[in-house]
Amino acid sequence: MSGDLAESESRKLLQRLRDTLAAPGASQDRLDNITHHIADSIGTEVCSIYLFRDPQTLELCATEGLRPESVHHTRLRLGEGLVGRVARMGQPINTANAPAEPGFRFMPETGEEVYPSFLGVPIQRVGEKLGVLVVQSRQSRQFTEDECYGLEVVAMVLAEMAELGAFAGGNDGGPATHRFPAVFRGTSGQEGSAEGHVWLHEPRVVVTNPVGDDPQRERARLNEGVAMLRSRLDALMADLSLGAGDHADVLETFRMFANSRSWLRRMEEDIDLGLSAEAAVEKEQGQARARLERAADPYLRERLHDLDDLSNRLLRILTGQGRDTGAEMPENPILVARNIGPAELLDYGRKLRGVVLAEGSVGSHAAIVARSLAIPLVVNAGRIASEALNGDPIFVDGDTGIVHLRPEESVAAAFRDKIAMQAEAQKRYADLRGLPAVATCGTRVELFMNAGLMADLPSLEGSGAEGVGLFRTELQFLTRTRVPKRGDLARLYRKVMDNAKGKPVVFRTLDIGSDKVLPYMKPQDEPNPAMGWRAIRLGLDKRGVLRMQLQALLRAGAGRPLSIMFPFVAEPSEFARARAILDEQIERERMHGHELPTEIRVGAMLETPSIAFAPRSFFQSCDFLSIGGNDLKQFFFAADRENEAVRRRYDTLSPSFLFLLKQIVDRSNEAGVPLSFCGEDAGRPIEAATLAALGLRRLSMRPASIGPVKHLFRRIDLSELSKLVAAGVEDGAASLRPEITDWLARNG
Ligand code: PEP
Ligand code: MG
Repeated sequence: MSGDLAESESRKLLQRLRDTLAAPGASQDRLDNITHHIADSIGTEVCSIYLFRDPQTLELCATEGLRPESVHHTRLRLGEGLVGRVARMGQPINTANAPAEPGFRFMPETGEEVYPSFLGVPIQRVGEKLGVLVVQSRQSRQFTEDECYGLEVVAMVLAEMAELGAFAGGNDGGPATHRFPAVFRGTSGQEGSAEGHVWLHEPRVVVTNPVGDDPQRERARLNEGVAMLRSRLDALMADLSLGAGDHADVLETFRMFANSRSWLRRMEEDIDLGLSAEAAVEKEQGQARARLERAADPYLRERLHDLDDLSNRLLRILTGQGRDTGAEMPENPILVARNIGPAELLDYGRKLRGVVLAEGSVGSHAAIVARSLAIPLVVNAGRIASEALNGDPIFVDGDTGIVHLRPEESVAAAFRDKIAMQAEAQKRYADLRGLPAVATCGTRVELFMNAGLMADLPSLEGSGAEGVGLFRTELQFLTRTRVPKRGDLARLYRKVMDNAKGKPVVFRTLDIGSDKVLPYMKPQDEPNPAMGWRAIRLGLDKRGVLRMQLQALLRAGAGRPLSIMFPFVAEPSEFARARAILDEQIERERMHGHELPTEIRVGAMLETPSIAFAPRSFFQSCDFLSIGGNDLKQFFFAADRENEAVRRRYDTLSPSFLFLLKQIVDRSNEAGVPLSFCGEDAGRPIEAATLAALGLRRLSMRPASIGPVKHLFRRIDLSELSKLVAAGVEDGAASLRPEITDWLARNG
C-alpha cells in the first residue's frame, strides 16, 4: 500500500473493522469476519489472529486461509515459532521465506506450508500484550514498509476495540488471561507486607474511539493538543525558572519531544491511515514502550520514559480525562504511582495499605510520609505504573522490595502465609505492651518510638513505647506551599504533647535543605546534597525559620517539660550557636510575658563522625545526645544511604562501626550525658540487641518494631552478649553478624 490510495484503503478497512466489531452476533463470527476483511484489503491469501491463552501460550483463534480445523487447536509457546517470537519481542517479523527464518516452526495441521511470505505484528495495548496478527501469502515476497505499517495500525485498532479475551474462549471455554502475573524488584522504603488492589495515582487514559472518520479533523485535533501540551510545558518551565535542578532538565527534554517533528509526523501518518488522534498517540507510545523494553542504554531508556510521560499528558488533553475517572477506590488500596509528592500522599491518608513507586528514593519526601503512615513502601519498582491497572491484585513485600502484580495462586498463598505469620507475631507482641524491656540479667532498656505526624501518636499507646524519642518536624513544612505559621505549628506541637499524655516527646528541629527542598525554598543546585546545606547549617544561616520554630515549640511546651534536639551537628560551635538562639527566644518569650516550659532540655543529634571526636566539653554542654545512625553510618563508611549500589554494602555490625559506637557510649557515660539511638537500626532486633550490648539504654524506633525488639530483649542475657560483642570489636571478622545471630538463636 502506498500514497493516497493506500490511505483511503486503510481507512476503509478500519471502518469496516469497526462496523464488524460493533455488529451483533457470536464473537467467533466477528473475529472470522475481521480476518476475512484484512486479508481481502491487504491482498493476501491468509490472515490469522493468535491470542494469548495463558501467559505462556498463544492460540490460533481465527483465520482466513488456513485450515478451519486448526482454529482453537494450534497453539504455540511464547517465543516459539515466528508467531511466538513476534509476541515475545513486541515487534514485527517480515520475511519472504518463513521456513528459512531462525526459530521457524512448521505447523502441518494449518496447511501453511504453501505460504512462504509472512508478516506478523504484535497486538498490544500500552503495557498489555494480547496476541499476534499475521498475514501470509503464496507469492514469495517481502511485504513493503507501508504494508507493515498498515498492519500495525490495524493491530492497534483490534487491541483497542475488541475485548479480545472473550474471543479466545475456544473449546474448553473461559476467557484468555492476557493480564499476566508480573514481578517487580524495587527497593524497600518501609518494611511490612500488604495484600490489596492497585489504585493508580494517575489512571491510564482509555481510548474509546480508535478509528477516525475524518483525517483532517483528527490532524487538527492532534495539532491543537500538541500546541496545548507545549504551552503547558512552557508555563511549567516558567514556574520553575526560580531554580534549575532535575525538574527543569526533565521538562526541557519533554519540550524537546513536544517540538519534535518526527514524533508529530509519525502520529499524522497514523491518522492518515485511519486512526483517531488519541489512537495515533497511543500507537506511538506503545511502540516507544516496546523499544524501552529492549533498550539497554540507560540514557535512551530515560528519554523513552519521558516520551511515555509526554504521551500520557497528550492523551489526557485529547480525551479530556483527568486523574479522577470516577472509578471507586478498591478494597485495601495499594497506591501505584510513578512518583508522588508528600502532600498528595498525605491526602490519601490512612486509607492506603501500601505504596509502590516506579521511581522515588528511600529518602524522598514520599518515603518519609509512608514511614509516618507506617505502610509498606517499595520505591524504584521499574515499570509498575504502566503495567498495573486499577483493581489488579497486588502484593507488596516492603521487607525485600518485591512486588507481585496479579500473582499466580501459589505465590499469593505463600504471601498470605507470611502476612498471617506476621499478624500472629504482632498479637504475641501486644501481650508485652505493658511490660518493660528488661533482659534476663536485669538490664533495662527504654524503647521509644519515632514519629512525624499527629496521626502517629495513637501508636504510642498501641506499641507500648515509653515516649517519642524522635519527632521529625519536616512534614509540616514539606506539605505546605508556604512557610507554616508559628501559631499553627505551636498548636500542632501542643496537640502532640497532649496526646502523649505526659510521656516525653523529643522534638527535632527542621532537618531540611538540599535534597529535601521545601516548595517555597529556592532550590540549591548542590553536587552532594546529603553533605550540603542542610539541617542545622541552614537553620543557622537562615535564622528566621529556626527562630519561628523554636518559638512555636516554647509556646507549645508552656507549663510542662520540653525537649528540643538539633539535627546534624558537626561541630560544637554549631550546637552552641543554636542553643544561643534558643536562649534568645526563651528570653523573648519571657519578656512578652508568655508562660515558659517548666524545664527545657536541649540535645544534639550525633550524625557525623566528627562530633563523636569532639572535646569532652561538647558532651558536657548537651542535656542529651541521640545517635542518628542512618546518617552516621553513611558518613562513616562514605556510602550514600539512598544509593542502592552501596547502601547495603557495609554492615552496621562491622567491628569498626561498633567500635565508633562504643567510643560514643563511653564518652557520653564519662560526661554523664544521656545517650539514645534513633536510626533505623534501633528497630531491627539483631542490631538493637547489639546496641544494647554496647551500653545504649534508650532506643527509638518505628512503633511496629517495639514488640519484636522487646520480645527479644526479655529473653536474653545482655551482659553475656556484651562480652561477645566486646571481644568481636577487639578482634572480629568483617562483620559480627554471623556470631551475634548465632548467639541470639541459641540464647534468645
Ligand atoms: C538518622 O540519620 O539516623 C536519623 C534518625 O535522621 P533522619 O533519618 O531523619 O536523617
Ligand atoms: Mg539524620
